[in-house]
Amino acid sequence: MKIVFFGTAGAVQSASDGNVRFALRGQGCSLLVDASGSPVHDLLKAGLDPLTLDALVLTHTHTDHIYGLPSLVHNLWLMKRDKELKIISNTQTAAKARQLLELFGLPDKEGMFRIDWIECMDGENRPRQVAPSLTLKLFPVRHSVPTSGVRVEQRGAVLVYTADTAPFEGLIEAARGCRALIHEASGARDREEHLNRAGHSSARQAGRTAAQSRADLLFLCHFDCRGGPAAADLRAEAQESFGGEVIIPELFREYEIGET
Ligand SMILES: [Zn+2]
Repeated sequence: MKIVFFGTAGAVQSASDGNVRFALRGQGCSLLVDASGSPVHDLLKAGLDPLTLDALVLTHTHTDHIYGLPSLVHNLWLMKRDKELKIISNTQTAAKARQLLELFGLPDKEGMFRIDWIECMDGENRPRQVAPSLTLKLFPVRHSVPTSGVRVEQRGAVLVYTADTAPFEGLIEAARGCRALIHEASGARDREEHLNRAGHSSARQAGRTAAQSRADLLFLCHFDCRGGPAAADLRAEAQESFGGEVIIPELFREYEIGET
């Protein structure tokens, strides 16, 4: 499985970075996680064919994770996509996503491709088959609105994305034994109390969760671009408790996630 980041910023963007979003390329399939920025532009730039994209995962309804959805669907319609698109999310997020598409009249467009809405209930524990050999499971995390973390597995490669969350015991369980943990790091340890209250984590806490869940690789993201700590400092903070590799993702670089 391969991962490529299109953005690593938190809610506020910078000149060099957009909101967190990334694509996964598995054997014979591809999926996009969260819809911000210009999704079709991102996919093309990464060498992925938007017309064969299998699924979009939406983690929650906050603006910075969902605003690109109408643009994605509109582009795919204009590009004459005929393959159905799976949109996977929790129930609350699916409701908002539907509203967003209706606002632009997209479901009524002539020749619109089919959207297969896959709504996962809170606490549901069964993996969903997204593509041949690739399964995906959502799990609830601790944020200010109903938010889902994501666990993706394909032939022994396991990747977990925390989405936006404060640290909690269940997160360690959900990430247990993954090869790669993508963990938000909205700030440094000196602001932990504030971050946790807002449903976010520090880099120190990301490192601890990676260590406790026995991940091999830790990708940090959701950086505060409004004068927040430098990424290198966040990496050092995470490394204090995590012995594996801590990666600050380079945008549009493809990272290989091997078998666990
Ligand atoms: Zn959020």
